Amino acid sequence: MPAPTDPAARRAYELDRAHVFHSWSAQGALDPMVVTRAEGSYVWDGDGRRYLDFSSQLVNTNIGHQHPKVVAAIKAQADVLCTIGPPYANTARSEAARLIAERAPEGLNKVFFTNAGAEAVENAVRMARLHTGRQKVLSTYRSYHGATTTAINLTGDPRRWPNEFGNAGFVHFFGPFLYRSPFHATTEAEECARALEHLEQVITFEGPGTIAAIILETVPGTAGIMPPPPGYLAGVRELCDRHGIVYIADEVMAGFGRTGTWFAVDHYDVTPDLITFAKGVNSGYVPLGGVIISDAIAATFDERVFPGGLTYSGHPLACAAAVATIEAMTEERIVEHAAELGERVIGPRLREMAERHPVIGDVRGLGVFWALDLVVDRETKEPLAPYGGSSPAIAELMGAAKKAGLLLFNNYHRIHVVPPCTISEAELEEGLAILDEVLSLADAHTTVGAVV
Ligand code: PMP
Repeated sequence: MPAPTDPAARRAYELDRAHVFHSWSAQGALDPMVVTRAEGSYVWDGDGRRYLDFSSQLVNTNIGHQHPKVVAAIKAQADVLCTIGPPYANTARSEAARLIAERAPEGLNKVFFTNAGAEAVENAVRMARLHTGRQKVLSTYRSYHGATTTAINLTGDPRRWPNEFGNAGFVHFFGPFLYRSPFHATTEAEECARALEHLEQVITFEGPGTIAAIILETVPGTAGIMPPPPGYLAGVRELCDRHGIVYIADEVMAGFGRTGTWFAVDHYDVTPDLITFAKGVNSGYVPLGGVIISDAIAATFDERVFPGGLTYSGHPLACAAAVATIEAMTEERIVEHAAELGERVIGPRLREMAERHPVIGDVRGLGVFWALDLVVDRETKEPLAPYGGSSPAIAELMGAAKKAGLLLFNNYHRIHVVPPCTISEAELEEGLAILDEVLSLADAHTTVGAVV
C-alpha cells in the first residue's frame, strides 16, 4: 500500500515507522495501514477508504466496532472512576464477574481478571499447579495460547520455536484433526478414539502424578479452527478426573459468542475446571481477560493465599465495557445471530465455493469462526504455504482482497473467515463475493490450475 496522502494519516504512518516496534514482525519491511475510524463491520484508512473487517481485528471485535452502548458505558465509567486497585470492590468489576459466571458452565462461579489472554493462561496454569502440587502441563501441537513465557511454551504452533528459552514442564501431544489426521484415521469416531488413546499414553509415559493440567482450546483458533469430534472433550474430562489433572479450556478466542454459544464448551457438554477468556468479553474496547474458576479450585485459596496479582486486575473501564458488551449481546441476541449465520450462510457458502475452487482443501468451523485450508493439491493435501511459513500465493490473495476492500485473517496456508458476530447478511455476502473472486488467483497456484 502507498503511504497515505492525508497529512494527519501520513504523520501517523511516519511516526509509526520511526518509533513503533510491532508484534511478530521483522521491523524493516513493515507497511502498516493507518486506521482512522471504525463502525460496525467496517474500518476506514487514512485516505478515507472503507474496508469490511472479516478478521474482527485479531478475532476480538465480536460485537463489531464502536457499539454505541459499549462506548457510552466506557464514557460513563470514565466520568466517575477510571482506575481502582485490585483489593477494592467496585460495581463494574462485581457486575462483570456476575455476568460472566452466570454464562459459564455450572460450578464455575469466580472470576480472576487479567488484562488479556496470555495473562489468563499464565494464571490458570499457576492455579492448577498450586491446586495439584504438580508441575507439568500438557497442550496440543496445533494450538496458540499467548506470547508470555508460560503461554508461548504451551503454544504448539511454530511461534513457540524461537521462544523456547529452556523452561521445564511443558509437554505437547496431538489433538484430533481428521483432515490431516496424525493417527491415519478416516472417520471422526476413529480420530476421536485414537486421539484419546494417544493422550492416555502420553499421560502414562509422563507420569500421571507429575501432571498439573491439560490445556486445550475448545475449538483451536489460530492453529486452524478445528472443531473436535463428538466425544473427544468428554474423553479428556474423564482422563483428567481419573488422574486428578486440572482441565483448562482456553476460550480466549472461541468464547463470548464466536462459535454461536456463549462458550464453545456449550457445544460439547463438558465442564472444565478453569476457563480462560479475553477478546470477545468486551470486544477489546479496553484490554480485559481472565480465568473462570471452579468452586473446588477456588476453595483451595479460601485459607491459603493466592500468590498472584496484577495492578490492573478488573480495571473499571474494561469491566464497564464487559458489562455493556454482555448485556447488549444478550438483549440483541447476537450469540444466536452468530450461530444462525454460521449454519445458514457461512458454512453453506464456503462449501459451495470449495466445489468451484480447487485451492480449497477443507472447510471447517461453526458460528462466525471458519477456516479455509488452502492446498496445492487436494489429493496430497500439500498446504499452499509451508507449516510455519508464508507463500507468494497467499500474499497475492491477501493483497487483492485488501485492494477490493476486504480485510482477512491469514495464518500460514489458511484463510479464516471470522467477521464480527454482529455482521449483517448483506455485509457477509459482500465479503464472501470478494473472497470468492480472490480465491481464483490462488487456484492458479494449484496443480489443477485456474478453473473458470
Ligand atoms: N489463547 C488463545 C486461544 C488465543 O487465541 C490467544 C490470542 N490469539 C491467546 C490465548 C493470547 O491472548 P492475548 O493475545 O490477549 O494475550
